[in-house]
Amino acid sequence: MSYQINFNEPPIGKNSLKYIEEAINNKKISGDGEFTRRCHEWLEQETDAVKCLLTTSCTHALDMSAILCGLDESAEVIMPSYTFTSTANAFVLRGAKIVFVDIRPDTMNINEKLIEEAITPRTKAIVCVHYAGVSCEMDTILAIAARHGLMVIEDAAQGIMSSYHGKPLGAIGDLGCLSFHETKNFSMGEGGALLFREDKLVQSAEIIREKGTDRARFFRGDVDKYTWQDHGSSYLPSELNAAYLMGQLEMAAEITANRMKSWQQYYQGLTELSEAGYISLPYIPTHCSHNAHMFYLKTKGLAERSALIAHLRNAGILSVFHYIPLHDAPAGKRFGRFHGIDRYTTVESERLLRLPLYYQLKAEQVEYIIEKVRDFYLG
Ligand SMILES: *Cc1c(COP(=O)(O)O)cnc(C)c1O
Repeated sequence: MSYQINFNEPPIGKNSLKYIEEAINNKKISGDGEFTRRCHEWLEQETDAVKCLLTTSCTHALDMSAILCGLDESAEVIMPSYTFTSTANAFVLRGAKIVFVDIRPDTMNINEKLIEEAITPRTKAIVCVHYAGVSCEMDTILAIAARHGLMVIEDAAQGIMSSYHGKPLGAIGDLGCLSFHETKNFSMGEGGALLFREDKLVQSAEIIREKGTDRARFFRGDVDKYTWQDHGSSYLPSELNAAYLMGQLEMAAEITANRMKSWQQYYQGLTELSEAGYISLPYIPTHCSHNAHMFYLKTKGLAERSALIAHLRNAGILSVFHYIPLHDAPAGKRFGRFHGIDRYTTVESERLLRLPLYYQLKAEQVEYIIEKVRDFYLG
């Protein structure tokens, strides 16, 4: 079925095609060329990270984080169950057990108040997911991690250009993972980045990313040949992808402002329904600024959500839900356990519905979608 309004359309930077052509003309299309360097510089400046490394996906940035945590088979890693599979898989691949903690119903983020009781002598890391680009309670999470000597990894796949108490997401924890998948605010098709708050893991990460070699140091002229140093894989993206991404990063403010306009329009247009108690709207804590990554509403429950999706589909609008809680999925049961009770993860995930939101979604389109949601409730 084709829709009158798509759920997502990837942005194209004004200069993206020109930059790809430049990369080709430079005769440098493998990784770590001029465009990768420019993306690194831009992202380091934007996030205050001491170092950024572009990766082939956020999944791979998470994989690298898990390797950098130095886990063994007895390790446990704490994270929310309401997230994408990659958040958990990265650590499962290193042999760790996943300990899922319930979310807060207001932000859909991990409930920071439940983390400490889930810690055991085997716990090695806390992974927080900034859902919809709205920050987790990082001060509390960092304090817990410091008390117990744990690593903090931010799954900031959705969090570029968002902040917590004015600090950009991604370089607040020890490591941060960004996504530039086609469904995210900025895209390189498939791609991501790993961010570092401090220097100490950077050299190991460069080796892991370059097939276990010290090629990055060789290119900088620090060593006169490169050799096999440690385990690793190929996590660096092609210059073609970096060139495409750079074309968007340089217009990041415009893309974000444009998305925010649609987000605000949805919020205002649906406030009456929310005040009348039909639906719930996203909550943004006052100390968090967000990037309009996602607009969602919450229905009363699963049946109402299915009916609303069908109603919107009949009007040519594609709306979607996501994240079947991981702890309830076959692999989640095998590789993890839920600590405490699932008070909100399942019920809140069944209520949530995402509406179309992308760069250059037109105001008339948003208006039309709002009208159709209102129709559904008010007839
Ligand atoms: C998109 C996403 C990922 C995966 O990103 P890829 O770049 O597609 O690997 C991981 N975690 C979260 C929370 C995401 O939204």
